[in-house]
Amino acid sequence: MRVAFIGLGDIGSLMASHLARDPFSLAVWNRTASKARDFAAKHSARVAASAAEAAHRAEVVVMCLPSSAEVEAVLHGEQGLLHALEPGSVLLDCTSGDPATSRSIAAELSGRGVSFIDAPVSGGTTAAKSGSLTVMWGGDESDFQRVRPVVEAFGKKIVHAGPVGAGDALKAVNNALLAVHILSTGEGLAILVKAGVDPTTALEVINASSGRSNTSENLIPQRVLTRAFPRTFRLALLDKDIGIAEALATELGMQTPVLSLAAKRLHQARSILGEEVDHVEAVRMIETENGVVIK
Ligand code: NDP
Repeated sequence: MRVAFIGLGDIGSLMASHLARDPFSLAVWNRTASKARDFAAKHSARVAASAAEAAHRAEVVVMCLPSSAEVEAVLHGEQGLLHALEPGSVLLDCTSGDPATSRSIAAELSGRGVSFIDAPVSGGTTAAKSGSLTVMWGGDESDFQRVRPVVEAFGKKIVHAGPVGAGDALKAVNNALLAVHILSTGEGLAILVKAGVDPTTALEVINASSGRSNTSENLIPQRVLTRAFPRTFRLALLDKDIGIAEALATELGMQTPVLSLAAKRLHQARSILGEEVDHVEAVRMIETENGVVIK
């Protein structure tokens, strides 16, 4: 199966690594060409000079870019990906995108005989490395059957969310919950540290009680208490995701004040801490505001 992979970022490169073997014949393209060359030095893949060249004769084109805006830019940009997609091929967009843009891309592609599936992933770089991501996809079942082997190469739990855009919606809400957990657990632990409770003791209780979450069980112990803060998922991307969830709620005429406040705080953290820090570093903003260190 001829596959093109576009976007070898923190998670994209790990997903693509599972496609660099039989039965796939893989072509890769990345905006920063050195990353594609480094990838091909380690894996069996052809480095394409452009997104269009990668897609030439590909049956499946996988994209994993920051947001739907970059997906559109690559489709319509000078690279001319749109014109290079083969009729009968499928664009599998693993970007955590926004539902409205995905629907508009799907409509545009369908006029060219190309199918579109939004297929955002969760599980982070650890699951991407082991090929056990959760994949939530939106689109037609018959289109999905054609890309199933590709999705199964990096995914373990594979769930049909609904029509095109439903995968994006589900992903955005999941990540909005992640943002709320990071902010609320960070604030809770900051209170406890200031009140004189050791954060390890606090987590021992919280993680045996109803306040627990993946944030309290894994992220805070492994990344905050240790002060390691590894970069696996940029805060800027989480800010983008909660923004998608908020926009969706607005579009649906809903009242979601908790989500809106969390979105505002994440946006603030992004402007203070910058584009390159990891998402868990949002806790640093809470620490600074309150003069405490959770360690
Ligand atoms: P990164 O920021 O690490 O990588 C982004 C990729 O997109 C890079 O290859 C970058 O190229 C490329 N890119 C950015 N802008 C453009 C552009 N204008 N034109 C062409 N290429 C561009 O992101 P991740 O790999 O972490 O995330 C990718 C997607 O997956 C996002 O939607 C994210 O929300 C989602 N995701 C990420 C997870 C994670 O743990 N990291 C977990 C689950 C979902 P270049 O190398 O040139 O910068």
